Amino acid sequence: MGSSSDEAPLKAIIIGAGLGGCAAALALKAQHFDVTVYERLKTFRRLGDSLGLGENALKLLRRWGGQQLYDDLCAIGNQAPDMQIREWGSGRVLAQQPLMDMAGYIGHRGDYHEVFLKATRDAGVPILMDHEVVAFDESKPSITLSDGLEIEADVVIGADGIKSRARELVLGFKDHPRSSGYSCFRAYFPGSIVKGDPKCAELVEKDSVNIWIGDDTHVIQNTLRNGEEFNWILTRKLSHEKDMEITESWFQEGDLDEVFRCIEGLDERIVAAIKRTPSCLDWKICYRDPLPTWVSRSHMIVLLGDSCHAHLPTSAQGASQATESAAVLAICLKLAGRANVPLATRTYEKLRFARTRQSQTNGEDLRDRWHNALKNVKAGREIDPETIKMRNRPLYAFDAEADAMQRWHAVSSQVAEELREGQITPLFGAGSRSATEGVASGVGAASA
Ligand SMILES: Cc1cc2nc3c(=O)[nH]c(=O)nc-3n(C[C@H](O)[C@H](O)[C@H](O)COP(=O)(O)OP(=O)(O)OC[C@H]3O[C@@H](n4cnc5c(N)ncnc54)[C@H](O)[C@@H]3O)c2cc1C
Repeated sequence: MGSSSDEAPLKAIIIGAGLGGCAAALALKAQHFDVTVYERLKTFRRLGDSLGLGENALKLLRRWGGQQLYDDLCAIGNQAPDMQIREWGSGRVLAQQPLMDMAGYIGHRGDYHEVFLKATRDAGVPILMDHEVVAFDESKPSITLSDGLEIEADVVIGADGIKSRARELVLGFKDHPRSSGYSCFRAYFPGSIVKGDPKCAELVEKDSVNIWIGDDTHVIQNTLRNGEEFNWILTRKLSHEKDMEITESWFQEGDLDEVFRCIEGLDERIVAAIKRTPSCLDWKICYRDPLPTWVSRSHMIVLLGDSCHAHLPTSAQGASQATESAAVLAICLKLAGRANVPLATRTYEKLRFARTRQSQTNGEDLRDRWHNALKNVKAGREIDPETIKMRNRPLYAFDAEADAMQRWHAVSSQVAEELREGQITPLFGAGSRSATEGVASGVGAASA
């Protein structure tokens, strides 16, 4: 291990300054560790569109960054009190529920990211831009940058996103995405474009969130900045082999003619808005199987966020779960002590796995309930609103730090025994043990 004494603060390297990396920096800094973030990009742009940040994450961020950080993050979010779940063709409201049941606050990813970056820098954590990590030595542990410089630490945290290089090291092989059988077209543009059309102007009069559900398809529409910006996401089941070919990218341009074909018969208000769309992205929703481990064989390189538990958009929890993971990893490192990083990282993955699987599978369950609901109407049955509502609310009451402290003793004792025996049980699949009990079986960790 790269430590010299147990008294100096633990030295942590975080790879990636996305929302997950920043959350990890804040959580570790709150434990007074020596933290540096390495980011390969020269600058960040305002990329992506809407992202949910739930109270489960916000309460942690307030603890680390104070009330101002909490207020700044909440102010970014859509302020509509409720969202409407509507019938595809008529637009009739089938269910209405408080927005806080959905994603908590829905805001622009880039706006949240900017606030996360500022909070990280304000906390005194250096974010070294244009520093790409190209190699690892897991035994030291160390990272090597593209200019050849090698840097050692006590622990290396791979918050390097869906195409993570750290994951390859941890798994020992390249983990390929596979098609989920679903795809999204998504667009984000000024609300003024929609305001100009009386057919759809009502959607941007004030902040709104609407969802239209159809057979094997749904559209989510929301405004941001009180109607100044407009976002829609069309999810559909893919029917052709060719469509399922995977390009995992946030930048692939979509074909609007194809979009128009997919929205035939949809409520004319949202059709009018979509028809005014200047351009859209084509975003294949990929699956990645749950990983058997989030930690390298040396136990000192550990994954966090999309690198190990990416989510479907219908989970609305990708950033929030990354924040929870940050909280738990920091607590484990604190409780284990600098001289015992392996105990910390192995306890962290066991504490986190079942929770992230629950939140991932919530997204799959919701998509399936939406995509099948209208089949009941066709069969002459009314839809029970409860069957199409989002069920994320129970996720929000959770306090990841309190839970980690409460379960630390039991789980770390099991881990200590496994480390002594030199036999770490996998998180998933044959040989997995108690920490993963209650987790939905089958494959399908979603990657968003
Ligand atoms: C461009 C983009 C757009 C997105 N848009 C949405 C959206 O609209 N809605 C939504 O719900 N989610 C979106 N997401 C996903 C969402 O941001 C994540 O689920 C969540 O924030 C947790 O991400 P993360 O920090 O684990 O990974 P990421 O946000 O992917 O961050 C990983 C970071 O690591 C850096 N990195 C990667 N490799 C290296 C390396 N070798 N060396 C140094 N740095 C490295 C990357 O440049 C990146 O900044 C988007 C992600 C991206 C990347």
